[in-house]
Amino acid sequence: MKKRTASITIETERLLVISRARESIETWCTQCNEQSNFIAVDEAAAVAGISERTIFRWAEADAIHLLETAQGKAMFCLNSIVRQRTSTTRRLLRSLKQFRKERE
Ligand SMILES: [Zn+2]
Repeated sequence: MKKRTASITIETERLLVISRARESIETWCTQCNEQSNFIAVDEAAAVAGISERTIFRWAEADAIHLLETAQGKAMFCLNSIVRQRTSTTRRLLRSLKQFRKERE
């Protein structure tokens, strides 16, 4: 009798999804005092489900953290967005994935 093996792959939610993407920077956030992923404003707005203007307003109010790249591009701390929203990280990651898929 032959033995059958079934392999089950469990996909885990991971922040790596974000850090591997082009438009994200994984770095230390001095305001969070922990490692975070910084994403562009369009993605930040998409994952948080708010307008880009609101993202900038939050950043101005120090509700979320902002990082400026050498190219002068504003990137937003995902950790702080997660904290600002009541949504879980998992949910945010899913909507970010969805957003990127739609944009392709
Ligand atoms: Zn932060």
